[in-house]
Amino acid sequence: MTRSSVLELLQSDRFLQEVTVKGWVRTFRSNRFIALNDGSTINNIQCVIDFESTTQETLKRINTGAAIAVKGTLVESQGKGQSVEIQVTELEILGDSNPDEYPIQPKKHSLEFLRENAHLRVRTNTFSAVMRVRSALSFAVHRYFQENGFYYVNTPIITGSDAEGAGEMFKVTSFEANKAPIDEAGKIDYKQDFFGKETNLTVSGQLEAETYAMALGKVYTFGPTFRAENSNTTRHLAEFWMIEPEVAFNDLDANMDLSEDFIRYVLNYVLVNCKEDLDFLDQRLTQEEKSKPQAQRSEMSLLEKLNFVVNNNFKRVSYTEAIDILRNSKPNKKKKFQFPINEWGADLQSEHERYLVEKHFKCPVILFDYPATIKAFYMRLNEDGKTVRAMDVLFPGIGEIVGGSQREERLDVLKEKMAALDIDEKELWWYLDTRKFGTAVHAGFGLGFERLVQFTTGMGNIRDVIPFPRTPQNAEF
Ligand code: ATP
Ligand code: MN
Repeated sequence: MTRSSVLELLQSDRFLQEVTVKGWVRTFRSNRFIALNDGSTINNIQCVIDFESTTQETLKRINTGAAIAVKGTLVESQGKGQSVEIQVTELEILGDSNPDEYPIQPKKHSLEFLRENAHLRVRTNTFSAVMRVRSALSFAVHRYFQENGFYYVNTPIITGSDAEGAGEMFKVTSFEANKAPIDEAGKIDYKQDFFGKETNLTVSGQLEAETYAMALGKVYTFGPTFRAENSNTTRHLAEFWMIEPEVAFNDLDANMDLSEDFIRYVLNYVLVNCKEDLDFLDQRLTQEEKSKPQAQRSEMSLLEKLNFVVNNNFKRVSYTEAIDILRNSKPNKKKKFQFPINEWGADLQSEHERYLVEKHFKCPVILFDYPATIKAFYMRLNEDGKTVRAMDVLFPGIGEIVGGSQREERLDVLKEKMAALDIDEKELWWYLDTRKFGTAVHAGFGLGFERLVQFTTGMGNIRDVIPFPRTPQNAEF
């Protein structure tokens, strides 16, 4: 007989029919009721066994975590809490789970403990819900772009340029650490290395994506990126997934429109398609919030926050306006910010971003037209000569979720900016070529996928929304 998933059976009305299901035991009580889960849904199916006809030996092996196959009759449930259940006629233990050793017991475990058991934590309700939502979000990402005329481009993970400018990089080499050849100047001779030059893991696919946008028109990347920064925060990973659309002929306004439309679409997709998981995560967060002091509690539940973002425009504010607001804000006057805002030109820290979003505007904010001095070389210089067409999308609880810009399309201006920052033209000759041959206005942004999953699931720590997190001092699994 073909195997059904728990999801199919819970939605089915094939009463009094024979069904087969396989999964892992979540709980077993009264030597009679098994809660079985197979990952297809957050809900378990109740399997009722006939105590008389089950051997003592089998009963002892129905432990939390064991894999079992169940054959039986689907019936309407008499008990509370479920609509259907299986009256078991045959039960086979597929894989035992020793209750003295299995770490995931049917009780509340701390997120820290589960992080140490990242290979098993997805067998809990919280992590299975997060990972199903993550999967649905990534499908929605592709669907949005594919439905809107974008092409998916796979940019290289090993990059030959260290001028991407987004952060510290991990070196890629095939030299053995203590046996790298030294050149005449006493430096490591990368000419003898695998690629014949220094290479790194990419921090962004943007520069390569730009070359593709200048031929395919609308493109996006969705792949892993790496940052070798020692930032031990709840929002930074050393390996994370980034989504980077890049569009020829788009200016900054069109870029802002795209970021809003895109984020709304993917959030709406999961609101429609992941209802049960989101309901669970909503309740989980409400529970967690109760343990916080009143002043730190969020005013909205998870579902309210998601619906709010889907139904409201983001507030667009220039950097200059934002600085005025921050300078005159209560926490700044009372010296509550760790980094006080004194003058125009200051880089915004996450405390400032969160003040703007959570306290001042109380909605997602897009900041634009930042000082050129605090942004990357490829952003388009404004007529004022001191700001660039940059944009950051700021979200409650997360801070920056998107960073993007209209790109500098004028060859002479781009070269000047590179010279000022000591970026070697020879290294980026191919990037400069896009400005030499058929240059055009274009724009794009980078969205950190895990930050999006964090916002969508309400998980406080970014380590809990990627299966096997990579962070400083941590690459187990
Ligand atoms: P932040 O200031 O938050 O460190 P950033 O300005 O360095 O971010 P960008 O280089 O603009 O980030 O990268 C684009 C997007 O990638 C960010 O908006 C964010 O969503 C995400 N991102 C950046 N760094 C990380 C990281 N270490 N871990 C996870 N996501 C990240
Ligand atoms: Mn940024």
